[in-house]
Order: sequence, then C-alpha cells, then structure tokens
Amino acid sequence: QANQNIRNFSIIAHIDHGKSTLSDRFIQHCEGLSEREMSAQVLDSMDLERERGITIKAQSVSLDYKARNGETYRLNFIDTPGHVDFSYEVSRSLSACEGALLVVDASQGVEAQSVANCYTAINLDLEVVPVLNKIDLPAADPDRVCQEIEDIIGIDALDAVHCSAKTGIGIEDILEELVKRIPPPQGEVDAPLKALIIDSWFDNYLGVVSLVRVMQGRVAKKQKIRAMHTSMDFQVDRVGIFTPKMKDRDYLEAGEVGFIIAGIKEIDAAKVGDTFTDASNPAQTALEGFQEVQPRVFAGIFPVSSDDYEGLRDALSKLNLNDASLSYEPETSQALGFGFRCGFLGMLHMEIVQERLEREYDLDLITTAPTVIYEVEQTDGEVIRMHNPSQMPPINKISEIREPIIKANILVPQDYLGNVITLCIEKRGVQTNMQYMGTQVNLSYEMPLSEVVLDFFDRLKSVSRGYASFDYELSHFSAAKLVRVDILINGDRVDALAVIVHADFAQARGRDLAERMKEIIPRQMFDVAIQASIGTNIIARTNVRALRKNVIAKCYGGDVSRKRKLLDKQKKGKKRMKQVGNVEIPQEAFLAVLRVD
Ligand code: GDP
Ligand code: MG
Repeated sequence: QANQNIRNFSIIAHIDHGKSTLSDRFIQHCEGLSEREMSAQVLDSMDLERERGITIKAQSVSLDYKARNGETYRLNFIDTPGHVDFSYEVSRSLSACEGALLVVDASQGVEAQSVANCYTAINLDLEVVPVLNKIDLPAADPDRVCQEIEDIIGIDALDAVHCSAKTGIGIEDILEELVKRIPPPQGEVDAPLKALIIDSWFDNYLGVVSLVRVMQGRVAKKQKIRAMHTSMDFQVDRVGIFTPKMKDRDYLEAGEVGFIIAGIKEIDAAKVGDTFTDASNPAQTALEGFQEVQPRVFAGIFPVSSDDYEGLRDALSKLNLNDASLSYEPETSQALGFGFRCGFLGMLHMEIVQERLEREYDLDLITTAPTVIYEVEQTDGEVIRMHNPSQMPPINKISEIREPIIKANILVPQDYLGNVITLCIEKRGVQTNMQYMGTQVNLSYEMPLSEVVLDFFDRLKSVSRGYASFDYELSHFSAAKLVRVDILINGDRVDALAVIVHADFAQARGRDLAERMKEIIPRQMFDVAIQASIGTNIIARTNVRALRKNVIAKCYGGDVSRKRKLLDKQKKGKKRMKQVGNVEIPQEAFLAVLRVD
C-alpha cells in the first residue's frame, strides 16, 4: 500500500492572494532550501513570470514536515497558475492530488477564479482546506471573508487558519491542517505501474522532463516504461523529486510525485495527461487523461525583416516544446509577407509568447490583431472554420456566420454592480443569472468571446477599480451579424489590417479605425489616403498629409547629442515598421483595433 504519511495537494488562489509567498514559507519552514538558495520567490522560475508576478508552468515541491504528533510527513505540493488563460493547467494539477489548499486574501475576499477552481477540486473529490491570508493588513476582514467563502463556495470556513505569508503567522497551523484533513494517497505498490504525466517540459541539457504522480506500482531507474497513448517505449535514466532542487532517487512508488527523465526526444511522445506504465508488465487501462486544449485566440506573427523568417520558425518550434497549447502554421500576407498564424489560450498567453520570442530569441516582430474562430456556413452548404479575417468568403457566398459564445461568471462588490452591467451590455452580453452573496454579487452572462478578447478584462478592472473578477468557459457557437471591415491605404486593401466586427458597430468601428490609422501612420513625403470599407462600400475616409520639412532640420542649431538621439529613436522606431506598398506602417496600426474605446 502507498505510504500513509504522504499528503499531495495543490494551492488554489486568485492572482496576488499570496500563493507564491506562502509556498516559499512552506519551503523555508521545512528547510527544503538553505537560506542562501532561497531567492525571493523560488517557484516562479522563469524571469518573465517573476516580472509579471504570475505563475505559468505548474511545478512541484516535496517537503518533509515534522508534525506536532512527532511523525514526519512528506508533503508534495503542486503549484498552479492563477490566470484564466491557464485554467486547464489547474485541473491537470488537481487531478494528481487528494487535497487543495484554498488561499483567500482576507483584505480582498473571494474572487471568481478561485470559485471556479474550487468547484473543479470539489468535483474531483478533493478535500478543500481554506485559509485566510494577509491578516497582517489593516484592511483585513477575516470574518466577512470567511462568511463569503461559505456563501459563495459553500464549504465550511469557520475554522479556517488565519495567516500571513508575509510575517509567517499561522504557517505551522496550515501545515498541521493539511496533514490532518487531507487523506493519504491510495493505490497499490505491487500493482502494474500507472503514472500520470502532470506536466512535461523540454530542458536543453536533460531533454524532456516529465512531472508525474505515481498512482500505482513503482517506477525505477533503468526500467523500460511505455507512454500508453502513443505506445512508445523509453528507458528511464533518472527519477527523483523536487525539493525544489532536483534530487535523484532510485525509484518512485504509488502515492509519490516526482520527475522522470527517460531519453524522450520530443514532448509529443509522452504528452501531458498520458499514463506511463511498465513496458514488460503493462497496466490494462490508462488513467483518465486530460482533454487536449484548443487555442481560442489567433493572430499573425511576422518578422519585421524577412531574413528572420527561419529564425522565427525555429523559435516557435522551440517554444512549442514547452508549451503544447501554442499552435502555429505558416501564413502569407500580401502586406506582411511570410509569417505564422499562431493560436493561443487567451490574450495573456499571446503577450507572453510574443515577449518570449522577442526577448529570448531576439526577433523583431509584427503581430496582427487577435481574432477568435468563426464558423461560416456557405450558400453551397459547406461549413468552414476560419480564424483569420482574410479567409472570410465573399458576402454573397455566406449564408450564416456563427461566433463562439462564452459563459462568464463575474464577482463584483455591490458598489460597482451598475458599472459592470453597463459594460457587459456594451459587450453584447446577455444576463443569465444574478445573485447577491454577502457584499458581493455573482453575475452570469453569455457573451461573445470576440468581445472579451478585445479588452473586456482591462475594462472590467477599470470600471470596478480592480475589485471585480471573472472566469469563463466556452459554451457554444451562435449566429451573429458579422462583417469584415477592410482598411485601404492609398487604395490598396491591407489584408493584415482587416477585422471582423458586428454589423451594428461596423460603421463606428470603421470610422474609429481610420482615425486611429491617421494618428499612427507617420507622415510620409506624399499624401496617404486611408479608407475603411465593407466589401466595396467605403464607410470612412481620411488622410495623412505629406511631410513638408525634414525632421532633423528642427534640431539644427541644437546640440549634436540630441540630434543623434533623435536619429537613434527613429532607427529603433523603424525596426517596428513594415513597408506596405510605398507606405511605412508601424506595429501599433496592426493592433489598433484592440484600443477601440
Ligand atoms: P500569487 O500571485 O498568489 O502567487 O501572490 P504572491 O505570493 O506573488 O503575492 C502577491 C503580493 O502580495 C506580493 O507583493 C506579496 O509580497 C504580497 N503578500 C503575500 N502574502 C502576504 C501577506 O500575508 N501579507 C501581506 N501584507 N502581503 C502579502
Ligand atoms: Mg505566484
């Protein structure tokens, strides 16, 4: 039988409620790392994550905790990301655990993301242990927040530990609660191996590293294992645990969480959600895997310089090794040349990928406006799916366009309810439920995904002063009056500037886009005509006047360094320009649709 002194758990918390800080405290308390090794936040390993303060990749840490009853327990905790874009990673981590620690900021209260993740945990039969963090803050109101946990999530929170990850209050109490309340793992050590792949990533030195939870049996060095979905066999080179440093072991057995390195060359050979079994004594059935994640948001990524095309392809394939949710395929644009159409989980994911491409691979890129997937029923009966405005068939060939609709859950304090409802209506939302829960209101809306992609999250935060939170899931496709608005520059349609919008807003959006282009496109040596059109129908027109004077002329007589600075700035600015016909168009133009207000 599995070791009964093991506790496997994940931490569920809304972004900024203190999950990483708390994890660090646990590590410190159990002395997983020496003081010197304890960098500010060890779990957020990627630089980018640290800068943005979010956790993207789930990671695990195994700690030995000497409990008050004198016994030593092995605590395995799996960090989970806290942003809506990555919620699929949360459910993956949860299914490897027997319990979940729910961390709620006592000065903020329950947020939509935590609610969604708690429901996932409860559905998976996990024991949910709530704690109230940040009680050191003067604004902390543990009683109200405790009531909120009971009202909104529906679990008993009366005995929730009050803690501060910052000062260290209550840390040991939390560890005691975890040991007491979370059940030990089940599963036979003597049964054939079944190990769930929770996560896997490509390491330049080690190859593919798989984070696994052994459900039954045992996996040892030198053993031949099989990935059950792909039926591929591998020889185990190393097994071990993260403390959080990698620590080799001879084997891992039922109930344990750790890593396997088995000479796997590509991540697709042993996918996340797959089951490893013993190649010479295989299990009958695989563990229930995870659903494959489908990208929801698509955008074109093009190198500013066509020389970088191969570099971009290479970089994307490397990023893809660690991020199976990123998809890409070659795309050709008349305006931007050769690039890739990339699929992302959401806007944050898109920003992160773009930033990593530029930072880690030193590429200068032009990204086009993101779009969702549309279903187009043509007059000949054929239904196509498109994720690029330029794929839209001519209007007379379309009998119906259907757009993806999401179910959104929004938690908002009563004071901001009116603002949030107004915003949802503006975003074509249809209210399906509204419930008062203590001082917060739980709103349910059906909304087009395309409107959410645009700027919903930022707007929600700004109309509620940061207090509203939301979570969503894809629901269905629904028919809508959608049209493509084209932008023409000096009479030429620029494919990469086209957007799909609702017909009711098309006129306004077209005018707005044309105006924005006018502001963004720098003056050239000649007049530039900008038009917006739907089909052959011009709905807006404007003009960028020709430049009269040389920019540098202005600085003549001034000091030389200023002039050099200006030139440098222009050069830098140039990098992000793309020559379309005889007009230079800067990156902002391609994303202008995002900033429509
Ligand atoms: P995460 O996004 O859930 O991982 O949250 P972090 O651990 O990164 O914490 C978010 C912010 O809250 C950081 O600035 C922390 O220093 C701060 N923080 C975390 N726990 C506490 C606490 O108990 N008290 C106070 N005052 N601040 C905290
Ligand atoms: Mg964090």
